[in-house]
Amino acid sequence: MNNLSWDEKTCQHAGNCVKGLPSVFRIENGQFVIDESAASLEEIKKIVDSCPSGALKLQD
Ligand code: SF4
Repeated sequence: MNNLSWDEKTCQHAGNCVKGLPSVFRIENGQFVIDESAASLEEIKKIVDSCPSGALKLQD
């Protein structure tokens, strides 16, 4: 399992992640939640790369 982290202070709330891969990146009860198991590593990598702020980080 990879280690996907999200830095709330860095996030610019551009929404690329929740729009691009809603199965993994969701807002639930006002909280940002990440479910890494809901997509392939390739799909997640694409979203991490598309994040404009660098708030998302993937560690192998
Ligand atoms: S794509 Fe990056 S900046 Fe945009 S909401 Fe997601 S984590 Fe925040």
